Amino acid sequence: MRLPKSVEMGEVVQRPASVVKELIENSLDAGATRISIVIKDAGKTLIQIVDNGSGMIHEDALSSFERFATSKIKHVEDLEVLHTFGFRGEALASISAVAHVELRTRSAEESIGTLVEINDVFQQNAPKISRIQYEQGTSISVRNLFFNVPARRKFLKTDQTEFKRIYEIVKAFSLLHRDIQWVFIVDERELLNFDGINEDNFINRIEFFLGKNMAASVVPISETNDFLTVSGFLGKPAMSKRTKNDQLLFVNSRLIESNSLSFAIVQGYGDLLGDREYPFFMLNFKLNPKKIDVNVHPSKMEVKFEDERNIFNMVKAIISRFVRGMDF
Ligand code: ADP
Ligand code: MG
Repeated sequence: MRLPKSVEMGEVVQRPASVVKELIENSLDAGATRISIVIKDAGKTLIQIVDNGSGMIHEDALSSFERFATSKIKHVEDLEVLHTFGFRGEALASISAVAHVELRTRSAEESIGTLVEINDVFQQNAPKISRIQYEQGTSISVRNLFFNVPARRKFLKTDQTEFKRIYEIVKAFSLLHRDIQWVFIVDERELLNFDGINEDNFINRIEFFLGKNMAASVVPISETNDFLTVSGFLGKPAMSKRTKNDQLLFVNSRLIESNSLSFAIVQGYGDLLGDREYPFFMLNFKLNPKKIDVNVHPSKMEVKFEDERNIFNMVKAIISRFVRGMDF
């Protein structure tokens, strides 16, 4: 197995929450229907993601840590579409450069699984590879994040803040992917365990995260026009708060941040909101990936759109029409 000689620090890994996000996205890409997230000390000591997805065959398990080793671009024409969405095969390479990583995996095609242990890429330590018994799926443990980059470690915030960031990621994904079973174990305590049996379990999940009142005042939305589909949930104006915490945005099911999109939504509510009030929203925008540039930041959270103005106006109009039709 070839590891990058000088590993430049991928911006992908900024903090424990970015590791959690990348690993969850990999599990989703692998078609998992059950995803467990285990963390210790706000992810600084341990982040482990266990899924029942496709798993990897031995050979792929080894190469998954190489930079730009992605299994997700199969055709040249995919490049244009997928590349911009960050399927760049960077996450595992970057994570394994700054933490102790253990990968356990088995694909349905093989009867025996693979264990890869990576301890210190900078010291040129060769990864330890062995065959193990393992169920189909993948488990990745990331221990002692930034153990070899003291400056980064020092810049992490308190456990409380880093935990909150992870929590927001788990919240967002478990609200969007309701057909998946999510388990979240924090310092050995099971914080949540959502079954994925009932796809309509949004209200239970929203109650869990935001309380009964909020759950009673969110309204499902699903609107389509020639350019995009907006689906998800909007809070009634009366439930708006003074924080922007309860705003979740996805584009093509990827968690993103977009100030202009958030602003368009708030503008859609218009004068139904009080001064400096923010509504709850959880919206997934489906649109042609060619119209999105996700490479604005390597962590892939911040996106830019090709006709930003146009999209802004469309979203504002859709939300405005919808919110005015709510009974509140
Ligand atoms: P990318 O997701 O951009 O392809 P990553 O570095 O995140 O790059 O992952 C590298 C490769 O490792 C993936 O393309 C995939 O083939 C494999 N992989 C990573 N995580 C999983 C997982 N949970 N289940 C199956 N395969 C995985
Ligand atoms: Mg990935």
